Amino acid sequence: MENYKKIIEDIYLEVKNVDDIGKVANYIPELAFVDSNNFGINITTINNESFGIGDSETKFSIQSVTKILSLTLAYKLEGEKLWERVDVEPSGNPFNSLLQLEADLGKPRNPFINAGAIVVCDVLISHLKNPKEDFLNFCREISDNTTLNYNEKIAQSEKSSGFRNIALCNFIKSFGNIKNNVDEVLDFYFHICSLEMTCKELSQMFLYLAEDNFITKKGTKIISESQTKRINAIMLTCGFYDESGEFAFRVGLPGKSGVGGGIIAIHPDKYCISVWSPKLNKKGNSYKGMLFLEKFTTKTTSSIF
Ligand code: GLN
Repeated sequence: MENYKKIIEDIYLEVKNVDDIGKVANYIPELAFVDSNNFGINITTINNESFGIGDSETKFSIQSVTKILSLTLAYKLEGEKLWERVDVEPSGNPFNSLLQLEADLGKPRNPFINAGAIVVCDVLISHLKNPKEDFLNFCREISDNTTLNYNEKIAQSEKSSGFRNIALCNFIKSFGNIKNNVDEVLDFYFHICSLEMTCKELSQMFLYLAEDNFITKKGTKIISESQTKRINAIMLTCGFYDESGEFAFRVGLPGKSGVGGGIIAIHPDKYCISVWSPKLNKKGNSYKGMLFLEKFTTKTTSSIF
């Protein structure tokens, strides 16, 4: 940890002063109110040592980072049958694209683009009695953190402006790949995207993807080793939409971003690191977040390649 700490401190200062060419996401009106100068980092190693710097303990809405959690729960409940509903191929398209669905007959390319995450939400609704509550409890159990919650204001803000997601859900339903009521599916999707966490909480929570033998404080094993491998593989190939290749090329770790400006990255058997900086590049990924992680894996020579 001492080695990581010094390197993180140095890169933090370096990247903090870089001119940020990104823009805060404002298509969800509530996200535009977040102070774009926030910049936080936290690393947690598999022996549970944690180090954070900057705004690492400020909560923000994790947006698409939540798609890892919804996928984890759906995979746990549905098993391999899940892949009949959603594929595991990179889309090469923006996160909110409708384009491929027509040709692919309503089967989304992967669970990390919006279309795929909406289908995963539908799968979860079919399994869960109280989807919003049960999902939250699942997240609370993994993180051993009962304070985790949705940000109702952000969920409502997206609900009132999420026209592309509304279109996606209806379009997929027309192919028969949404089984439940579209309003219910979308309400659930908007809520899980609004989940709020700090960098510190994120890097602790996603340790279950770095550690094969991870069990919760209550003694539950979340997913099998094979499922952990597969979720990491989808993160590496699809976690950054049409910039997934670029992230693998520059950072070299499985990761996932969200339009709230958060990114988490996993080094299997070593650590989970999270970065938050709200300004996004043109592909919808945190500009400084990616820059930080590129410098971090380079200086620590700790990518998976
Ligand atoms: N809630 C956001 C949306 O559906 C999530 C997208 C993202 O973080 N990339 O547009």
